[in-house]
Amino acid sequence: MNLQKFARHSLTFGPTPIQPLKRLSAHLGGEVQLYAKREDCNSGLAFGGNKTRKLEYLIPEAIEGGYDTLVSIGGIQSNQTRQVAAVAAHLGMKCVLVQENWVNYADAVYDRVGNIELSRIMGADVRLDASGFDIGIRKSWEEAMDGVRRAGGKPFPIPAGCSEHPKGGLGFVGFAEEVRQQEAELGFKFDYIVVCSVTGSTQAGMVVGFAADGRADRVIGIDASAKPQQTFDQVLRIAKNTANLVELGRDITDKDIVLDTRFGGPEYGLPSEGTLEAIRLCARQEGMLTDPVYEGKSMHGMIEMVRQREFPSGSRVLYAHLGGVPALSAYSYIFRNG
Ligand SMILES: *Cc1c(COP(=O)(O)O)cnc(C)c1O
Repeated sequence: MNLQKFARHSLTFGPTPIQPLKRLSAHLGGEVQLYAKREDCNSGLAFGGNKTRKLEYLIPEAIEGGYDTLVSIGGIQSNQTRQVAAVAAHLGMKCVLVQENWVNYADAVYDRVGNIELSRIMGADVRLDASGFDIGIRKSWEEAMDGVRRAGGKPFPIPAGCSEHPKGGLGFVGFAEEVRQQEAELGFKFDYIVVCSVTGSTQAGMVVGFAADGRADRVIGIDASAKPQQTFDQVLRIAKNTANLVELGRDITDKDIVLDTRFGGPEYGLPSEGTLEAIRLCARQEGMLTDPVYEGKSMHGMIEMVRQREFPSGSRVLYAHLGGVPALSAYSYIFRNG
């Protein structure tokens, strides 16, 4: 496998810490040891998150190609667009963001607080669009690109979740390499890695990275799209493409992809009772915050799998915390009583 041949522009602090979740593990019976790898605090650029790690492999192309405007797309409370806005500000580029109506939720200030507030403060040109949830390439996004060109700029397109970009999976191949180094220092290996999955390139990159030492199917994706077939297909396609890029030396097949579809409901962006219970439990046991759109769902999945004894006793499980906490204030009504 060869990841080193790709240019990488550093946007993060470096390797992210791995912390034991001691109280949560004990609370759940103590037979499974839970750990978290903190991608949610991987950068000083507007709180960072998994898209910042992915962007490290996309940005060299934007700089070398002389692009002056980063264009991206997401839901109103998209973490991706907030991270793109921060990277644009950091690089002295302009930023245009198309923010669509992906979530059936209407907290009074949903389009004012959280991620979208931060993007506006960082100077991004934020455009609200009424289109619904889709993880593919969208017309509104093409229109934003044309607008930049008409104004004499050179737009650099960054698709939803970075996932349709051919290099979108590379960052999380690097995550697996990093975990292997940390395992050598810790003196043990993780038996499972739990990760939230929606547009797919985070899980896809991890699957390829962990395939290098025979652990592809130890990456447990927890679907948060509530359209799991679409997410599964996307993870598989991106993993195949990424495996080719890094010369993994073998094909990725559907047997390598584990996507648990039990925890994504009721809809993308809307928490279930289980999501909310997981958010509160993790916050109260560990002081570690998760959000109702993504990490609360993967935290719910991990907690439920421990409760149902789906991990063998003695397992060490690594929870990849991908970020997303800035969206919490957009769900303030749900948490009005804690
Ligand atoms: C984007 C995002 C995810 C999902 O990652 P994908 O690569 O789109 O599957 C999970 N958690 C958070 C916090 C995110 O911002």
